Amino acid sequence: MALVDLSSPVDAKFWEPDPVVHQVLTPADGAKHMSAEMREHLGLEFDPNVLPDAEFLNNDTFTLTVHTGTHVDAPAHYGSKTTYGDGVPRTIDQMPLDWFCRPAFVLDLRDAGTQLVGADLLRRKLDDLNYVPRPLDIALLHTGAEQWLGTPEYFGKFTGLDGPAVELLLDLGIKVIGTDAFSLDAPFPYIIERYQATGDPGVLWPAHFLGRRREYCQIERLGNLEALPPSGFRLMCFPVKLTGAGAGWARAVADVP
Ligand SMILES: [Zn+2]
Repeated sequence: MALVDLSSPVDAKFWEPDPVVHQVLTPADGAKHMSAEMREHLGLEFDPNVLPDAEFLNNDTFTLTVHTGTHVDAPAHYGSKTTYGDGVPRTIDQMPLDWFCRPAFVLDLRDAGTQLVGADLLRRKLDDLNYVPRPLDIALLHTGAEQWLGTPEYFGKFTGLDGPAVELLLDLGIKVIGTDAFSLDAPFPYIIERYQATGDPGVLWPAHFLGRRREYCQIERLGNLEALPPSGFRLMCFPVKLTGAGAGWARAVADVP
């Protein structure tokens, strides 16, 4: 077996709509920090210069949204109410782990020629797959968007799914849909321009808003999908247990026989 990393990095040098801040506490600064904390909170005196090399331990503080880097969206991200269950969407810490370690398959949308893929094209991709998806399989969309990672293009140039295309996957019993793009919906400018042209509220983020009617999770901002076979592998993608959050960062890894 081979473990294939499908995660995109969290990198403070990347262009992001919500920039990542990475503050580094060096081991030398860590020594002074620890000494000051001991004095303030415990009234203890400790000379940091007695430490080997006058160094204690490093620390890193990242400031970033839960939608930065590879992450899993929970139903609570899609709205405050659902039409299923008890009407309250689950947060990321409440989702079953069982959903995130499953056989997976890849639909290659790099030749889609559009920023919004519908059910017809998606059905043709499923027919070409040579694999029959089973309930709880994880569907991965390879859009090619990773080539723009770290640049403004990453947020405006990608391919998403419309509502019927997502429903097609959910009708197969799929609960987790992953993409290498910034969003499972089409890019923001595409959606807003389409709304302005049509006045139809149905064109507004249909993939995300569908999660108010049917419970499912999205994995966004995956990477390295070209390293995968179309099917016959397992995906592991456990979201970090952030209490009450609408999403959680994840290290996505494929186990390819
Ligand atoms: Zn997200």
